[in-house]
Amino acid sequence: MNFDTVIIGGGLAGLLCGITLTGRGQRVAIVSRGRSALSFSSGSLDLLSHLPNGEKVTDLNAGLARLADLAPMHPYALLGPERVIEYAQEAQRLLADCGLAMQGRVETPHLRVTPLGGLRQAWLSPQEVPVAPSPGMHVGIVGIEGFLDFQPALAAAGLRRLRVTATAYEVTLPALDILRDNPSEFRAVTIARVLDDDAQFAPLCDALRSLSREHDVLWLPACFGLADSRVWTRLNETLQRQVQLLPTLPPSVFGMRMQTLLQQQFIKNGGVWLPGDEVLNASVSAGRVSALWTRKHEDIPLRPRHVVLASGSYFSNGLVAERQGIREAVLDLEVQQPARGDLCRDDLFAAQPWQHAGVRTDDTLRGWQHGERLENLYVAGSVLGGFDAITQGCGGGICAVTALHAARQICARESLQ
Ligand SMILES: Cc1cc2nc3c(=O)[nH]c(=O)nc-3n(C[C@H](O)[C@H](O)[C@H](O)COP(=O)(O)OP(=O)(O)OC[C@H]3O[C@@H](n4cnc5c(N)ncnc54)[C@H](O)[C@@H]3O)c2cc1C
Repeated sequence: MNFDTVIIGGGLAGLLCGITLTGRGQRVAIVSRGRSALSFSSGSLDLLSHLPNGEKVTDLNAGLARLADLAPMHPYALLGPERVIEYAQEAQRLLADCGLAMQGRVETPHLRVTPLGGLRQAWLSPQEVPVAPSPGMHVGIVGIEGFLDFQPALAAAGLRRLRVTATAYEVTLPALDILRDNPSEFRAVTIARVLDDDAQFAPLCDALRSLSREHDVLWLPACFGLADSRVWTRLNETLQRQVQLLPTLPPSVFGMRMQTLLQQQFIKNGGVWLPGDEVLNASVSAGRVSALWTRKHEDIPLRPRHVVLASGSYFSNGLVAERQGIREAVLDLEVQQPARGDLCRDDLFAAQPWQHAGVRTDDTLRGWQHGERLENLYVAGSVLGGFDAITQGCGGGICAVTALHAARQICARESLQ
């Protein structure tokens, strides 16, 4: 099977790259083994909240410029501030074109409210998510009886520390009784499958109506809107009060919506989506990947002109930690990693050196195998090394920026506009 490009991994990075390439007329396949990190994410995307030395980033340009000294192997430092900002802006447009209504802009990060009632800097958040609440506003935080993945009392306590008047409530929705019988099924996504049904809109409104009259705004767990924000829009209109949604513990309704809409756009563009398959290994000759071998297609290899490795980090087994060290799972690419004795810090909440491990690249994002740079292989997303997505708040941004950079270079080599 011949393709212009084969992408290994269909998470945020793989899909943004695939959508861009198919949008330029390329024949692209994405092979993706399982669920991506999006299903477990907040649904908000981070760009760069903190520098590696812990300093908060308030001016993105200045922050990006400092990475060259502080972390020269950081993917943003390899690409340089101008390109990072340009790609981030391009990603905003692309997400909007895919039907994702997000608030936030590259130039102006916002503070989104977390499920524990704290504030966290973000680049883009779903439009339903509350940002920067004003002190003095009266918020009703409404949980769902029996739903353990969102605790309104905890959120209210956190908000009160921010001087926001917050009161916790729970509503009972009889349509969910069938899920309540099995606590492991009582998750945000299964609840959404019930509440997204038109028939449940009136009971939901009824449960919220009196609370909506007593508060400036109601915040609910994100338990509806798997496909779109129709229920949310209707609720705001019907109750005539602002209703906003907080992310819950995974699985994430916002993250799964993003995954679905990106997948749909890729397929609409003519991309070939190969879910549930995995690339087991690759044939390499003369510094190029000539074939990819997958579990399902056995002896029929995929033959691409270009390959993008977007297989994710430890979470998706793109990186594997073993006794001998950390390795990249598909092509055994060279990995930058801390010395064995310096992988972890005892303080669980400290920046962990193993988070920085990942595939080594240069500013072209090509990977090295056994000392040789592979000329048609680009690496994008969280399989890359040189950054810490958690303490630096840059996970989503790294994926978007590197995915678009990989796509642009492939287009340039194919002379596509
Ligand atoms: C649990 C979690 C929550 C996060 N939350 C946030 C957040 O809220 N905001 C934020 O900005 N960042 C967040 N991040 C950072 C996150 O890494 C990125 O935002 C991003 O979603 C990662 O995308 P990715 O495409 O690099 O990898 P992934 O999303 O991990 O996708 C990789 C895909 O590749 C597939 N794959 C792996 N190996 C193979 C193979 N051999 N063959 C075929 N397919 C393969 C996997 O099955 C998976 O589907 C989070 C990360 C994790 C782990």
